[in-house]
Amino acid sequence: MTNQQTSTALSVTGLTKRYGDRNAVDNLSIELPAGVVAGFVGPNGAGKTTTMAMLLGLVRPTAGTGTVLGASIDHPAAYLSRVGALIESPAFYPSLTGAENLRVFATIGAQDTARIPALLETVGLDGRGEDRYRSYSLGMKQRLGIAAALLGDPDLLILDEPANGLDPQGVREMRGLIGRLAGTGRTVLVSSHDLSELEQVCDWLVLIDTGRSLYQGPTSDLLKGGATGLIVVPQRSADHPALRDLLVNRGHEVELSDDRLTVSVNGADVSDLAASVNRAAFDAGMVLVELSPNRTTLEDRYLSMVHGGAR
Ligand code: ATP
Repeated sequence: MTNQQTSTALSVTGLTKRYGDRNAVDNLSIELPAGVVAGFVGPNGAGKTTTMAMLLGLVRPTAGTGTVLGASIDHPAAYLSRVGALIESPAFYPSLTGAENLRVFATIGAQDTARIPALLETVGLDGRGEDRYRSYSLGMKQRLGIAAALLGDPDLLILDEPANGLDPQGVREMRGLIGRLAGTGRTVLVSSHDLSELEQVCDWLVLIDTGRSLYQGPTSDLLKGGATGLIVVPQRSADHPALRDLLVNRGHEVELSDDRLTVSVNGADVSDLAASVNRAAFDAGMVLVELSPNRTTLEDRYLSMVHGGAR
């Protein structure tokens, strides 16, 4: 991997791809800081593959400007040697072993074959590298594809739906692999139509629908502000009314349901609010058994943003 001269790995503005009267990608702008593992998430048909294909010079944009690793997207040849990609399953030789296939790819690409054992280990295929490709499971084939994409020690790795079609175990292994790629200095852009596949391993998210950006930024920021209430449950249910009165007297908005109280956050810092409620309950001799923000999950936030659905 070469040293990044810039702290931005990818910066495109107004990226558009028109097919007939339909915009597959519609005025999309993406900026990725160098070194992030970015999840590129959108429903089927949202434009993920088309975007990635444009970044890789496989599809010519209708409009848009920008840079990949500091070089203009108008001249992909200037940066492609520093980019690794898995955009369709690579055409491996079924009768060759995984390691032999990587040697073929490395030789064609004038890349260092000495890295192959370490790469097999990175993708979790150590011990299976001498098995024929045709004996691999779908997950192993996908992981060998990622090993091939890593052969050139790229600064930017672009993976299009690497977990597509995998069973839950395969999805977990793929997630583990993406997690291992984090923190290695390279930038990763990995797509999925399923946010839950990526939210745990991506520190950055680019959410799109119908070719347009819905959100992009740190994964943690998408969750911020998600809590609207603080759920408070005293140990003794007989304490519910007294606790509600106590909190209302302290100026809080409180809703009482069968088994819990919900204190409105109203823009307060959730941790400060929790501490203050806990202290008030303790001072009044009540023990709390639950004190938690009613945070919506990332998936809830994402689904509430996606209106287009599959096209
Ligand atoms: P998926 O998750 O299903 O792979 P995606 O987000 O990768 O979807 P794209 O494959 O980029 O989405 O497709 C975006 C839109 O562009 C879709 O409506 C698709 O039908 C259309 N499209 C893609 N390629 C072409 C093409 N070569 N000709 C015409 N339309 C196309």
